[in-house]
Amino acid sequence: MRAVVWEGKNNVRVSQVPDPKILNQRDAVVKVSLTAICGSDLHLYNGYIPTMKSGDVLGHEFMGQVVEVGREVKNLVKGDWVVVPFTIACGRCFFCERDLWSLCDNTNPNAWIADTAYGYSGSGLFGYSHMYGGYPGGQAEYVRVPFADVGPIKIYEDLRDDQVLFLSDIFPTGYMAAENCNIQPGDTVAVWGCGPVGLFAMKSALLLGAERVIAIDRLPERLLKARECCAETINCAEVNVREALKEMTGGRGADACIDAVGMESHGSNVIHMYDRAKQALMMESDRPQPLREAVLACRKGGTVSIPGVYGGLIDKFPIGAAFAKGLTLKMGQTHVHKYMRPLLEKIRRGDIDPSFVVSHRFSLDDAPRAYRMFQDKEDECTKVVMKP
Ligand SMILES: [Zn+2]
Ligand SMILES: [Zn+2]
Repeated sequence: MRAVVWEGKNNVRVSQVPDPKILNQRDAVVKVSLTAICGSDLHLYNGYIPTMKSGDVLGHEFMGQVVEVGREVKNLVKGDWVVVPFTIACGRCFFCERDLWSLCDNTNPNAWIADTAYGYSGSGLFGYSHMYGGYPGGQAEYVRVPFADVGPIKIYEDLRDDQVLFLSDIFPTGYMAAENCNIQPGDTVAVWGCGPVGLFAMKSALLLGAERVIAIDRLPERLLKARECCAETINCAEVNVREALKEMTGGRGADACIDAVGMESHGSNVIHMYDRAKQALMMESDRPQPLREAVLACRKGGTVSIPGVYGGLIDKFPIGAAFAKGLTLKMGQTHVHKYMRPLLEKIRRGDIDPSFVVSHRFSLDDAPRAYRMFQDKEDECTKVVMKP
């Protein structure tokens, strides 16, 4: 089959690789109908994630048709249309039983790497390096889906692929970020970052009852997208964000702040991570630092929610401000399995149409060009979908 494979830094290509097979009786094989490039794929593309090997198949946002199931997969049959969560979960461990699916104990065969860096490992992920399990991803014609009896959800045939594809990651990720804000009627939610996850967080905050959403970014075209999601906007390249937020909230501050930017600092041991974080901070000392700013801008007793990915350590985190103001901090990899069904119902009811984030459509064969364009934000490229 054809698949997008990682060949090294800034080098992906479409190669012939062996067709996936059922290896375990809880597996399914899915023929991919639509897949996407995610912002976090760029960290692989840029060579920041260790434990990638030449020839690894990329992609963790995908959907398609079931073509084969193992004997223990009773909920799916050949021909079903499914969306697959990017996190792989067993459905039976301590964490899965508590709805903490992205923390599954049984799906990362290389857990020792994360154990060393973090104390314990989260779940395995599709197409995201060997430290997350080395599972071949979904930017391919076919994918093996482990634990297919708990992960994939069947979709309604009256919905288009681009309306449901993002149930695999960015819609639940934005939604969980908003849900983590414990939104009360009348609340103002500030969101740093107007990429796809930020936009889904904004729409979700409104769905969850926020009265106002204030979006923060430095790119005018992204701020425009936020306004299309009914957000008020602050251009952080032009004004002091904390002062602007204070003014817009009658001096009290935003009730909740979402950091949808994140700062990935990758490494397989703590010191390496520390070095990378320091390095990044020095490079970016004159840029806005969303997480610190969110902590300082949040009102007393408010919540800071972090869907943006952090990998290592950060310097100068204002823990004193968080303590003094009694803030709640919530974060983590998305428990995608928990959100897919309820969010699918919202799509079906017409509460939201996730296809609004798509900026570019390519064939899988154009993956090298799609990655380049997405990386360079050429032609205001913010979200790419590809058809095998
Ligand atoms: Zn993603
Ligand atoms: Zn589990």
